[in-house]
Amino acid sequence: MSRTPNDAPPPLPEPLRVAVADSHTHLDMQSGTVEEGLAKAASVGVTTVVQVGCDVKGSHWAAETAAAYENVHAAVALHPNEAPRIVHGDPGGGRPGQGVRTGGGEGALDDALAEIEALASLPHVKAVGETGLDYFRTGPEGMAAQERSFRAHIEIAKRRGKALVIHDRDAHADVLRVLREEGAPERTVFHCYSGDAEMARECAAAGYYMSFAGTVTFKNAAPLREALAVAPLELVLVETDAPYLTPAPYRGRPNAPYLIPLTVRAMAAVRGLDEDAMATALAANTARAFGY
Ligand SMILES: [Zn+2]
Ligand SMILES: [Zn+2]
Repeated sequence: MSRTPNDAPPPLPEPLRVAVADSHTHLDMQSGTVEEGLAKAASVGVTTVVQVGCDVKGSHWAAETAAAYENVHAAVALHPNEAPRIVHGDPGGGRPGQGVRTGGGEGALDDALAEIEALASLPHVKAVGETGLDYFRTGPEGMAAQERSFRAHIEIAKRRGKALVIHDRDAHADVLRVLREEGAPERTVFHCYSGDAEMARECAAAGYYMSFAGTVTFKNAAPLREALAVAPLELVLVETDAPYLTPAPYRGRPNAPYLIPLTVRAMAAVRGLDEDAMATALAANTARAFGY
């Protein structure tokens, strides 16, 4: 008997009978080629993915990949943790310049936002995001830049008629407030939804989609399952956020779109639905949310 190394890719799950989309993934951070990742996902019924860019370079890559593959759609943005780095003159966490002004300042952020807006107007780019607020990784010194960037992304999504993908980490009240103040775009998706049932009711009232990740399978995630239980079925999506947030029982090992069936099955159990009904709803909801 050999031990499975902790960083080994989990095995292929039983395929879904009804195909679904991974509504939020980062193929550029996963091992193997794009072709391999997509083929592996399709082999278990995950036939569509939304590839999410987190900085100018990653957003260009997302747009190019979506142009090259029919079942890949792109979302483009400066991640909430990226915006303060640009303003403070450290774009991409220290990687070489990516077409934005060096030295930082609000001008550098404006330059990067202009590049995001140009990408957002491409037909295969279906969403602006992930944007929002992250009070876990960004400290008080970065909050102003983060909120300014979030507001700008909301405007871009509205101007370009694209969905908005929200990253909300430890910032529920402020994310909801900024969306109220700016006026949310017609289609708004909370990626890796992390609120409780009360927040789910608030999101439902506003018509926001809630995308559930592998976290919904975690033992300690009862409040998240309570949120899923009360969310209107037509506003529920599924995602990996791979390579992060690998669903149980493979927590800690590398995540990829082919593991979506594990999360779909856990969600179906929470909703008291059979797997096919859950998958049918998820597939329709994702297409409606992103407009593909
Ligand atoms: Zn995120
Ligand atoms: Zn993400």
